Amino acid sequence: MNINCKEIPYDFELERVSNELKGAKRVIVQLPDGLKKYAECIQRSLSEVLADTEIYFSMEGSFGACDLRIFEAKLLGAQAIVHFGHTEYSLQETVTEIEDLKVIFVPAYYKGHLPPGSVLNLGSNLKEIASEKPLLVASVQYLKLVPTVKEELEKMGFKPIIGKSKKMLPGQIIGCDYSPLLSTKEADSVIVISGGIFHALGAALTFSGPVLRLDPYTGYVEDLRKERDYWLKRRYAEMMRAKNATSWGIIVGSLLGQYRPSIVEIIRKEISKAGMRYYLLLVSTLNKERILNFDSDAIDAYVVTSCPRIPIDDFGIDTFPKPILTPGEALSVIKGKTEVYRFPW
Ligand code: SF4
Repeated sequence: MNINCKEIPYDFELERVSNELKGAKRVIVQLPDGLKKYAECIQRSLSEVLADTEIYFSMEGSFGACDLRIFEAKLLGAQAIVHFGHTEYSLQETVTEIEDLKVIFVPAYYKGHLPPGSVLNLGSNLKEIASEKPLLVASVQYLKLVPTVKEELEKMGFKPIIGKSKKMLPGQIIGCDYSPLLSTKEADSVIVISGGIFHALGAALTFSGPVLRLDPYTGYVEDLRKERDYWLKRRYAEMMRAKNATSWGIIVGSLLGQYRPSIVEIIRKEISKAGMRYYLLLVSTLNKERILNFDSDAIDAYVVTSCPRIPIDDFGIDTFPKPILTPGEALSVIKGKTEVYRFPW
C-alpha cells in the first residue's frame, strides 16, 4: 500500500511525542488496526529526531486504552509506550504508573472538516424528531468537530449540550463508558459523531430517546432507533436463554484496563446470594474458540467482565451454544430485574 506521509488525515503530534521520548532507548508503539498502515511514517519521523531510540511496533489489536502493553514494555526493558488513537482509560481499576515507564497517549484527532451541508442536514433530522436540545458526543478522533457542530446548530436555533464526564475529555465517549449521556436530564436526543456504528450503537443502548449518528467523512445522518430495537430484541433473547442458569463462567480480563476486580466481586456476590455456582476464567483476548475449549455441562452461561462489547459485537450475530452476557445483562438476569435494559455495567 502506498501511503503519503504528508497527507495523513490524523494528527499524530509527532513533535510532542519525540520531545517526550528524548533519552528513551527503547519504546513500544501501539496503534489501532486502522492506523497500523501509518507505522512506517511514524518510524521515519521519530527516527529523524531520535536516532538512538529503538522503536517496536506492537502487532496486537489495541482496541482501546484498556489494552496497554505494560508486560511487553517490562519484557523489553522499554522506557516508554506510545499509545495512539485513545486517551487514558477512564474505567481503569488498577495502577498504570509503573516506575520508569512513561505512557504517552496520542488521541490522533481527525484533521479534516465535515462535508458542506452536513450540519444543515443534521438540523433537518433534528426537526423531524422534534429535538431542540440534543446532547453532542463523539469518539475521540472526531472531538475537534464537536464545537463546530454545536456552533452551527446554535445558529439554526437549537440548544445543543456537550456531554461531560469526570475522566474523559468534554464530549468524549468510548465503547464502554457512556457516562456523558447520563450527565444531564435536559437532552431530548443524542448526536454521536463517529466513523462507524460501534460508538453510536452503545449510545443507543444507553439513552432511551432518539440517537443520531453524524458520519464525519460523508455527512450522512443515521437514526439509530431501528438498530437499537433490533439489538434489544437479540439481547433480551440472550438474557432469556440464561434465565435458568445455575452455574456461570465469570470471564475475567487480564489486559490491564480490562481487569475489573470490583465488577467481578459484585457478580460473584450476586451469584452466591442466588445460590448458584461460578467458575473464574482468566483471559487476555477472548474469542469463541477459547470459550468452546473450556465449555462443558458444568457451565450454563457466561458473563464477560473484560470488555462488555465482546458479547454484543463479537458474539451477537450467530447464536453461541451458551448465552454470553455483559455484566449489566447478567446482573439483571441474576437479580430477576429485566424491565430496564442495563448497558454496559
Ligand atoms: S469497549 Fe472494550 S476495547 Fe473499548 S475501551 Fe472498553 S473495554 Fe476496552
